[in-house]
Amino acid sequence: MKIGVLKETKKGEKRVSISPNIAKQLVEKGFELIVEENAGTSSSFKDSEYSKIGASVEKRGVVFKESDVLIKINPFDEEDLKLVDKGQILMSQLYHKSNTELIEAIAAKGATAFSMDAMPRITRAQDMDVLSSQNNLAGYKAVIRGAYEMTKIFPLMMTAAGTITPSRVLIYGVGVAGLQAIATAKRLGAVVEATDIRTETKEQAESLGAKFISVDNKGEESEGGYAKEASEDYARRQKEAVNESLFKADLVITTAMVPGRKSPVLITAEQVSNMKNGAVIIDLAAAQGGNCELSKMNETVIHNGVKIIGTTISPESVSTNASDLYAKNMLNFIVHLTENNEFKWDLEEEITDGTLIVQEGKIRKN
Ligand code: NAD
Repeated sequence: MKIGVLKETKKGEKRVSISPNIAKQLVEKGFELIVEENAGTSSSFKDSEYSKIGASVEKRGVVFKESDVLIKINPFDEEDLKLVDKGQILMSQLYHKSNTELIEAIAAKGATAFSMDAMPRITRAQDMDVLSSQNNLAGYKAVIRGAYEMTKIFPLMMTAAGTITPSRVLIYGVGVAGLQAIATAKRLGAVVEATDIRTETKEQAESLGAKFISVDNKGEESEGGYAKEASEDYARRQKEAVNESLFKADLVITTAMVPGRKSPVLITAEQVSNMKNGAVIIDLAAAQGGNCELSKMNETVIHNGVKIIGTTISPESVSTNASDLYAKNMLNFIVHLTENNEFKWDLEEEITDGTLIVQEGKIRKN
């Protein structure tokens, strides 16, 4: 089976779906690998690293023409689809629920498409879960970005010139990104607090050394491990419980999301007005509307001396590690779907069923 690794064309994207390290493992398993020229350059992987392990490095057109399976990180786009042939298998993130036109275009091509972001959140699928591997790195990077934007340091420091008290970090949303943000801020020496609508996250936050701010969540159901939209009553209780910590925080990282919905507004302009001068908010939910009322995607807004940075969960800036982890997820997924290097799908099986969005031109899920 020939696997084609495409260079990402999305603006600002630096990752590659298969790193040389994982390419080597695929080749050792008997897969043929065709990698587009310069696919790994922005992640610090040279073409020669791929050719050295037995992959062939080719121009874009050749990769499309020769491959049985085409792999990307970002959704295939119109330009890609012009080069896709009937019968080819596409693997990338597709965000199929909000990308109906793309799914229809893939089906019109007679292709098959798996969506990596549709991976079920079950224990068995953890090593194929690209949302987790990438969000984990994004949580780390959010703290580093915060440290860069702040005018204070994180740890307690006793010097001859005086003692510096540790910075206070508050994390909203203790999912994959939030947990890594807690761990990173803690390692840097900050005093860390966190809150989440799902009470089961209390123990996880505390095990990493954060103080958990509990909010009475009676009546707020979660579904399949994910939060549902919070009620107005919960939002009011949350503000009451969290405000004292918010107004003392030096860095706030927000990661709260609800699948398929706009992100909940957890910090209003009025709350920001009561925050410390010089505080920084890194809003990782900005692409879904933002957890802070004042966030603007890819912009820094200053309100009453508070810097609000609207960004998204994306580990592009640590593309070497992010590519390696994405690639490892892909390797596990390909191994899961194949036997003796041939596809052998069981549509009754949860991982295959969950991720197979288009099968030979027929849309299975939208
Ligand atoms: P996510 O990105 O959807 O949301 C981040 C966090 O925000 C969640 O913890 C959520 O509860 C929280 N949140 C939502 N609304 C909120 C509100 N109004 N106030 C406060 N917090 C709010 O979450 P995620 O990181 O994708 O994780 C979602 C779930 O999936 C978790 O239960 C996680 O443990 C689970 N998970 C399972 C697997 C697996 O088993 N393969 C892998 C990854 C994650």
